[in-house]
Amino acid sequence: MTSPAASAARVRTRFAPSPTGALHLGNARTAILNWLFARRHGGAFVLRLEDTDTERAVPGGEGMIYEALDWLGIAPDEGPREGGPFPPYRQLARAERHRARAAVLLESGRAFRCYCRPDELEARRQAAIAAGEPTGRDARCRDLPAERAHPGEAEGREAAIRLRVESGPVEFTDLLKGTLSIDGDDLGDLVLVRSDGRPTYNFAVAVDDIEMEISHVIRGVGHLSNTPKQVLLYRAFGVRPPEFVHIPTVLAPGGGKLSKRRGAAGILDYRERGFHPDAVLNYLSLLSWSAEDGEEFLSREALVESIDLERLGAADTEVDEEKMAWLSGRHLRAEPAERLARAWATRLDAEELGLNDADLRRAAEVFAKRTRLLSDVTSEVEPIYRAPETDGSAARELLSVPAARTAIHFARAAWADTDWRPEPLARALRGAMGDAGLAGRAFFPPVRVALTGQLHGPDLGEVGYALGRERTLARLAAAMEAMEAMEEERSV
Ligand code: GLU
Repeated sequence: MTSPAASAARVRTRFAPSPTGALHLGNARTAILNWLFARRHGGAFVLRLEDTDTERAVPGGEGMIYEALDWLGIAPDEGPREGGPFPPYRQLARAERHRARAAVLLESGRAFRCYCRPDELEARRQAAIAAGEPTGRDARCRDLPAERAHPGEAEGREAAIRLRVESGPVEFTDLLKGTLSIDGDDLGDLVLVRSDGRPTYNFAVAVDDIEMEISHVIRGVGHLSNTPKQVLLYRAFGVRPPEFVHIPTVLAPGGGKLSKRRGAAGILDYRERGFHPDAVLNYLSLLSWSAEDGEEFLSREALVESIDLERLGAADTEVDEEKMAWLSGRHLRAEPAERLARAWATRLDAEELGLNDADLRRAAEVFAKRTRLLSDVTSEVEPIYRAPETDGSAARELLSVPAARTAIHFARAAWADTDWRPEPLARALRGAMGDAGLAGRAFFPPVRVALTGQLHGPDLGEVGYALGRERTLARLAAAMEAMEAMEEERSV
């Protein structure tokens, strides 16, 4: 079971961000849920830009939203870029439609013109409070008989359009919170269109959701107080409201609001830092619900299969970047080596390191397991390819022990004609150790230093495999030469 209406009507979800900056984890989670739910039911995922707050809009805001959605792999089916059957998909461009809808409500008497200025309304409210009278609803314009003009009209004032809201409960159901109710008196006569002609936020949202035939409104819990107002508009238009799902908040690590400083709020920051996008998708989904079998590592296909609005958690959750990084490692390891190699290539100076595609592919095969973020390539992989510095003091000390020459000599001999794969290479090296008559701690460190210039690191079979035959044998030969040079220095 997902949601009662999921199968009854075509599922249409929407993500309605304001282009006010980069998407943060919270918005991204909302987008992901809407996308997954639409995919699960073969429906449509609509992007609608709520760009009416022109003062808060930032240049390039729309582009940043698309960049984040594209990176997460949750492209909309309809939107400003995609087009679709219900254009336009930018709210500001829909203002004419909103005004036309308000005119319909005026016509039917469900809305009325109000000429009072906000300061007049407020002054009368204060006066009522001072007189100990109920503030209720200021009914001056509401009750004005049609044939009698309001003095404001004579003054040439423009009217706002307000919805006639009756007393009595406005009920609606939220999937997580159950049935909620608020009295119409507490909502008052909602302004639909301001006297300057600008539609109000809730009016625009409700009209757009109605016209775009949205079946499920899945959004942040911060919008819960808007919902009864929107429900009143559904009623006024005689349209059945959609299913409402208000999802809990994503909190910064340690609690509190997400912000730039707390929880690296921008989704694209996670891209820069090298998180696998599927891991972010996976993680933000797990913040919302858990799979029935408790499995935490889920591919995007598995997420689509398992999304279940009935299983959504109701509690706010803190971001756990450690867990996201762990998931990122799992997703990186699930990548075909070719793809991981291509992603790594963008984070390395392959030319400087002398790496070609085949080198990186072999590295991806054996070293993916040592990484969690794509950026780990610079600490876990890059050093292996840097030419080893055999003249550092630690390396010199190791290589100056006579057994080091024996070790490297036998290693070279063993690897001269070994099948160049990690397992056979590791096996051959163990054989060489036996042939050299050396203990592991005398045999392996000089070989490692000769290959990588480092004292610690991955399995040497994997190192040799990743380096490739030519580079490996050249490094062993170079180490032999360095040792010979050191010997000469000593004998001079
Ligand atoms: N524009 C709102 C926001 O960015 C979303 C409105 C809605 O989902 O109804 O939070």
